[in-house]
Amino acid sequence: MPAVLRVALPVPLPSLFDYLPPATGQAVPGSRVLVPFGRGKAVGVVVDVAADSAIGKSRLKPAIQALDDAPLLDAELMRSLAWAADYWLGAPGEAYANALPLALREPRPLPDTRDETWALTVAGQSALDAGSRRGGSRDLLQALVAIPLAATELSERLPGWRTAARRLAPAGLIERVAARSVATAVTTAPALNDEQQAAVAAVASMLGQFQPFLLDGVTGSGKTEVYLALIAQALAQGRQALLLVPEIGLAPQTVRRLRERLGVPVEVLHSNLSEGDRARAWLRARNGEARVILGTRSAVFTPLPQAGILIVDEEHDGAYKQQDGFRYHARDLAVVRARALGVPVLLGSGTPSLESLANVVAGRYRGLHLRTRPGALRPPQVQIVDMRAQRLEHGLSPTLLSAVADTVARGEQVLVFKNRRGYAPVLLCYQCSWHADCPRCERPMTLHVGRRQLICHHCDHRAPVPTVCPSCGATELKPQGQGTERLEEALTAQFPTVPVLRIDRETTRRRDTFEQLLDGLRNDAPAILVGTQMLAKGHDLPNLTLVAIVGVDEGLLSVDFRAGERLAQTVVQVAGRAGRAAKPGRVLLQTHHPDHPLLRQLLAQGYAAAAQELLAERRLALLPPFSHQALLRAEAHQRGHVDAFLHAANAALPAGHPLQVAGPMPAPMPLRAGRHRGQLLLEGDSRSALHEVLRAWQSTLFALPAARRVRWSLDVDPVDLY
Ligand code: ADP
Ligand code: ZN
Ligand code: ZN
Repeated sequence: MPAVLRVALPVPLPSLFDYLPPATGQAVPGSRVLVPFGRGKAVGVVVDVAADSAIGKSRLKPAIQALDDAPLLDAELMRSLAWAADYWLGAPGEAYANALPLALREPRPLPDTRDETWALTVAGQSALDAGSRRGGSRDLLQALVAIPLAATELSERLPGWRTAARRLAPAGLIERVAARSVATAVTTAPALNDEQQAAVAAVASMLGQFQPFLLDGVTGSGKTEVYLALIAQALAQGRQALLLVPEIGLAPQTVRRLRERLGVPVEVLHSNLSEGDRARAWLRARNGEARVILGTRSAVFTPLPQAGILIVDEEHDGAYKQQDGFRYHARDLAVVRARALGVPVLLGSGTPSLESLANVVAGRYRGLHLRTRPGALRPPQVQIVDMRAQRLEHGLSPTLLSAVADTVARGEQVLVFKNRRGYAPVLLCYQCSWHADCPRCERPMTLHVGRRQLICHHCDHRAPVPTVCPSCGATELKPQGQGTERLEEALTAQFPTVPVLRIDRETTRRRDTFEQLLDGLRNDAPAILVGTQMLAKGHDLPNLTLVAIVGVDEGLLSVDFRAGERLAQTVVQVAGRAGRAAKPGRVLLQTHHPDHPLLRQLLAQGYAAAAQELLAERRLALLPPFSHQALLRAEAHQRGHVDAFLHAANAALPAGHPLQVAGPMPAPMPLRAGRHRGQLLLEGDSRSALHEVLRAWQSTLFALPAARRVRWSLDVDPVDLY
C-alpha cells in the first residue's frame, strides 16, 4: 500500500501538500520531489511520509519524479526547519525555500562542487600586455596574473567575473586548471591574554555539548582571536565551524584572517553570490568539504553534518532579523540549531542585546567577558557637547569644529558620524512653511543636492527639486537639518586642504567600494570621514583619533521602546573607532539633551550599566524580553480594507485568551508607498501562551474574507514596530 508524501512547496500557505509517491525512485523525508501543482509543476521537499491523507488517498496525485537518491536536507536541518516554521509562523514551504539555495530548487541534477580554478594562458598574458582588453575582461586578466584563483575567490573579488570569463575562455585567454593545493596557514595566533584564554577554555570544555555563551567585549578586545582559537579546536577534532556576521561588508577582512590563520578552505555564503556559487558552497558544506563557513543571515541554514561550533558575531545587530517573507531571527535560530546539533554556540558583541543579557541573568547563557583591549592605551574619552548654547555651522558646533581642526593639524583622522543620508531631511519654504512631502508616504522627502533630486527614504519615490515654492511661489526654499552630504560639503569648505571622504549607501553602491575607499586612506596623513552606520564597524583605522557623533537626538525622542538600546549600541560602537591602535582617542557627542539620563549613564558608567538600567525599565514596563510579542501587520490601498481586516482578526481571537491586545491601530507610518498600514499587537507573559493562541489564530486569518483585500503578515518577536 503506497504511503502519502507530505511535501513543502514554496508558496505562502500554512500547509503541507499531500502526494502519492512517484512511479519510480525513493522519496524520503529531506529529499526533493517534482510534483504537479496548479497548472504547472513545482519542486518541493518531502517533510514526512504518512500512512494516510486527510484529503483521501484516492484524490491525491502522484509526484512526477524523485529528484534525490538520498535526503538533501539531513535530519537535524529538517527538525530545525520544522521548529523555525512553527516558531516564526512561517509557511512551511517558505522556511524550506530559505534553507535551499535557489539553484537547488530547480528540477536539475546537483551542480558539480569540485573546486573550479582559473588561470591566465600565455595568450592571455600577451593580451594583457598589449592592452587589447578593457573593462571587466581586463580586470579578470589582471586578477589572474600572479596565481590561478578559485571561482569562489574570484566571486569575492570581482562580482561580475563570470561574464568576462564567458568571453575570455573561448578566446583562449584564460583556462580552467587543476585545483591549487589546499591553502596553508601563513600566520600564527598571538599569545592569548588571560581573559581570552578563560573564554576559550570555557567554550572548549563544552565542545560536543549544547551550551550557549555570550562573549561580551568591545571592538578590538580580541573576540575574533577567541573565535579563531575555538574554530581551530573544532577543526582539530575533525568538525566544522559556522561563523555568522551581520553584513557582508565585514566579511572580506574576516575571510582573509580565517584563511591565513587556519589553512583550510573557508566557504563564504551571502546573498551577493551568484546562485550557482551559492548552491555549490551550500553543497560543499553538506558533503563536509567546507570546514569553515562564514556567512550572513541566511547562512544559518547551511547544512553542518560535522558541526563543532556555531558563532554569531555582533549578535545584537538587527540585520539578523529577516524583515519580510519568513521572518526568522538568525541568532535565535543558531541557538536552536546548536541545541539540535549538540554543540556550543558563542554569541559575541561589544554591545550585547538586552535579550541575550537577560538570558545570561536567567542562567540560560553563560557570560564571558573581555575587558581589556590588547594594544590600546586606554578607552577613549567621551565628552558631551551641549548644542543649545552654541551657534551652529551646518549643524556643527564651534567646539566640534575646533576639535576637528586640532586633530587634522596633528596629522590624524576624524570620523564624523551622522545616521542620515542626503543633504537635508526637509526642504522648507520660509514664506508659507510648505515643505516637500512624499505624495505616497506623507513624510518629508530628503534633499539630495548632488543628484538634484528629492528622494523619499521610505519608498524611494523621486521628484525634481522645485526652484519656487509650489504653494506660494516664493523663491526662499531652504534645506532644514543635515545629512552626510551636507556635512561633507561643510567640512570640505572648512578644511579645504584635508581629504574629506563620505561613506554611506550612496557613495558605496558597489559592495567593494567601501573597502576600497578606506584602503585608499593613508595611515600617516590627516583625513575626515563623514558617514552613516556603515562606519561603525569593520576595517581598523589606526590613525583615527577623534570621533564626532552628530545628532543622536532622534534616538532619545523615539516612541519605539528599543530606541534607547539601539542608541546606546550605536554610540558605543562608533565611539569604539577612536584610538584603536597606539594613539589615545577622543569622542564628542553633540546633543540638545545633555542631561538625558541614558546618555549620562552611558558616558559615566558604560554600556553594561546602561543596559542593566534599560533591562530594569523593560521589566517594570513588562516589555520584551520580559514579555513576548507578535505583530499582525496589514496594508492596502484603501484604509477601509485594512481596518476591516484588523477588526475581523481581532474578533477572531479565541474567547478568554490570556494575551494583551493593542489595536487595531494605524502603524507608526500610517501611509507608505501609497498603501495604508495598520497593526494589531499581541503580548503575552509567557511564550507558550502566546504561541498557543497564534497557531490557531493564524489559520483562521487565512480563511477571513477580509484577508483577501490586504497584504498581511505575522511577525513573532518583531524588532521594529514599523
Ligand atoms: P574584536 O574581534 O573584538 O574586534 P580582534 O580579535 O580583531 O578584536 O582583535 C583586535 C586586534 O588586536 C587585532 O589586530 C588582533 O590581532 C589583536 N589581538 C587580539 N588579541 C591579541 C593578543 N592576545 N595579543 C596581541 N594582539 C592581539
Ligand atoms: Zn511657500
Ligand atoms: Zn515615500
